[in-house]
Amino acid sequence: MHRSNLIKPLLDSTYPVATKGEGIYLYDDSGKKYIDGCSGAVTANLGHGNEVIIEAISQQLKKVAFTYRSQFTNEPAEKLAELLCKMTGELYPWTFLVNSGSEAIETAIKLAIQHWQEKGRPQKNKIISRWISYHGITNGALSVSGHPIRREKFLNMLGESSMIEAPYCYRCPFGKAFPECGLQCARQLDTILGRIGSDQIAAFIAEPIIGAAGAAITPPEGYYELIKEICDRHNILLISDEVMTGCFRTGKMLASDHWEVRPDIICLGKGLGAGYTPIGAVIVTDEIIDPILKGSNIIMSGHTMSANPLSAAGALAVLEILSSEQSVESITEKITYFHNLIDQLKGKFDFIGDIRGKGLLIGIEFVQNRALKTPYPRGAQFTETLIKTAKNNGLLLYPASSGTDGRNGDAIILSPPLITTEDEMDEMYRLLVKSFEAMEATLSKKEML
Ligand code: PMP
Repeated sequence: MHRSNLIKPLLDSTYPVATKGEGIYLYDDSGKKYIDGCSGAVTANLGHGNEVIIEAISQQLKKVAFTYRSQFTNEPAEKLAELLCKMTGELYPWTFLVNSGSEAIETAIKLAIQHWQEKGRPQKNKIISRWISYHGITNGALSVSGHPIRREKFLNMLGESSMIEAPYCYRCPFGKAFPECGLQCARQLDTILGRIGSDQIAAFIAEPIIGAAGAAITPPEGYYELIKEICDRHNILLISDEVMTGCFRTGKMLASDHWEVRPDIICLGKGLGAGYTPIGAVIVTDEIIDPILKGSNIIMSGHTMSANPLSAAGALAVLEILSSEQSVESITEKITYFHNLIDQLKGKFDFIGDIRGKGLLIGIEFVQNRALKTPYPRGAQFTETLIKTAKNNGLLLYPASSGTDGRNGDAIILSPPLITTEDEMDEMYRLLVKSFEAMEATLSKKEML
């Protein structure tokens, strides 16, 4: 057998070769068809093979493929920044372009620290984050990620970050229930700031809806507003990691918009390029940039490929499509239809513990005992088996971590492309149910335990 030279996620596994993408479908070299039920990694928001985006990138490729950011600016990057400003109500007039979500987080952290330095507060240089979070794989981003499995091999290289609990109502870290809890998880930020002293802290970072680390953990009403109020009161910045939730994934341009919270720094990635080109962005307010403009006048971050014309042309086309009125309306309709479908799963399978999320970002957490919320033993490999079963059935699902320790839980994310039609959603639902039924059969044979 030909030995592959390419390192893939699991070294000893074989992967189908994707040869074609069309709408919500991917095809492999044997002709097998897959529904992209998770938009890859919640990325291919406009599906595959979109001619408008392909044409925009091709046209740019013919003009100029690469410019170096300290020598030239370029048309698509300028237009993209302008459109991002417009789409966020002119509250974020500044955009810094990078190539991935992790790079966006690295830049956001550096910007926050530099902001305070330029204001003569260099001691405000630490970041507070949350357990059950994922902000990226590079060292700065991993340092603020509350994801034990992804951290453990590199602990010696990670920076120090104080972490508070996540708003994980299904398994409340304080053993309470909303609203009687009084949002203790948010108030923990107040407590920790009081203890450390906010003169040491540059910013608090959070995903408005927790993705890979928690399968769409969605905060209860009032949580994000309270977090922002605490940040403001202690004079620290709020960095919102909207790498997964941004660009209409949850029905609005930003997930923060659901709570009308205005973070100081916002990170975008994934859906910004929708998988057509690698791109991430950090968008910021005038208040963040002003002291830097008046001070050193230079951002101490950046990459060779920052503001790459091809990436920017792709993202610009993506946002032009998404910002049209018809598109926003149609996404809203799709969300209602999808939620009605997914609601039918409730009570249908004993192993479904929780269904959560917003917009077209839905998490399903699986449990061995629904009443006790007991997770399956890790060795049972519930999520892995489900993902494999669904893939054999022609449905792609995204695995996510869950459980308070981030190690033992089983969960998936369902995040179809925002262009999925109602018929396609029905088809997706049928394949999901078929895969769950196969899991039920496997479990009843006790093959997994
Ligand atoms: N932040 C969030 C919320 C993410 O979901 C991810 C990727 N799963 C990242 C950051 C990192 O993005 P990337 O993989 O593009 O570096």
